[in-house]
Amino acid sequence: MTSANQLSTPISPQLWQALNERSRSTGQSIAQIVQQALAEALDLDHDAVYQVSTSGAIFDGVFEGFVTIADLRRHGDLGIGTFDAIDGELIMVDGRCYQARSDGSVRIAPDDLLTPFASVCWHLADSVIDVPGPIDWPGLEQLLDRSRESANATVSIRVDGFFPRLHLRAACRTQAGVDLATATAGQAEFVHHGVAGTLVGFWTPQFAQAISIPGYHVHFISADRSIGGHLLDLQARDLRIELNWTNDLRVAMPNHGAFLTADLAPPDEATVRAVEGQSASDRR
Ligand SMILES: [Zn+2]
Repeated sequence: MTSANQLSTPISPQLWQALNERSRSTGQSIAQIVQQALAEALDLDHDAVYQVSTSGAIFDGVFEGFVTIADLRRHGDLGIGTFDAIDGELIMVDGRCYQARSDGSVRIAPDDLLTPFASVCWHLADSVIDVPGPIDWPGLEQLLDRSRESANATVSIRVDGFFPRLHLRAACRTQAGVDLATATAGQAEFVHHGVAGTLVGFWTPQFAQAISIPGYHVHFISADRSIGGHLLDLQARDLRIELNWTNDLRVAMPNHGAFLTADLAPPDEATVRAVEGQSASDRR
């Protein structure tokens, strides 16, 4: 558990015994069990991913924001997404939401800004892995693959460390009605060297591809909050990786015209790769 908030409280012998028995039988830590029980008692969507709109809609060009950043922050403390008119990349870490724009700037996103597409959750590490490295993005993907245990669960990911090389992109502000592949064809790309910072994002199972973007989808923010974007490629070392399993999905649906008339079929794999994956220069 990496939260700065620590709970210390007296507890009855019966509860203590029951907690330990549950921990032994499920393999969960006592912190996880307490966290889950409290979230249930307090009616918080603790292990849910809160998804704004769908991958089908954003790939079809439904770029009109309809959920405020303030609302997004009520549903999680870690996440990724974009802004109204795909004006840059959204990075939420430790409950703060940042906007990395195509001019290379990064700012705290104002609470009244709107998002047309985002995924956020309450990130509390179920497992932590330290990786001295060095490691490249395919190596990190393989390591995450081995650590996830199942391809069928959505997992939120946080990776803190040092990045000798980073290849990022930031979507350029685009008017609605253009599909995402066309809109990101002229995207701004940046290569940075020697940056400390944090990757945040998700592994999303293939079955959820009509809602979320399948596979790994990761954004970066530097420790000094001056550099950010959608991750295309990296070299990394001194990593601390946190994985958080989720078991629920809430989807906020737009009710405006563009969504209601869009083709919401899931994007095909080639299109997802073209838009979200590595650029040609990285694959060489
Ligand atoms: Zn992205």
